[in-house]
Amino acid sequence: MDPNKYKRHEPEEPEHLNCRVCLKEIPSSAAHTAEGVDYIYHFCGVECLEEWKQKEKRDEGPLNHPEDV
Ligand SMILES: [Zn+2]
Repeated sequence: MDPNKYKRHEPEEPEHLNCRVCLKEIPSSAAHTAEGVDYIYHFCGVECLEEWKQKEKRDEGPLNHPEDV
């Protein structure tokens, strides 16, 4: 019998994410995602996703779609 066997309690936390734009907490099942360079961003909704896209465009300049204005 190993007394340590049942000692290790890992709390099962539900996976919660924070919206990249408004920092609101969102359940992972309801999150909108966008893949960054080496990271996946999460958003509470399409509105925040679009807002983030606009910001990214402004920050990085028109690299990908120069004619998409
Ligand atoms: Zn949001």
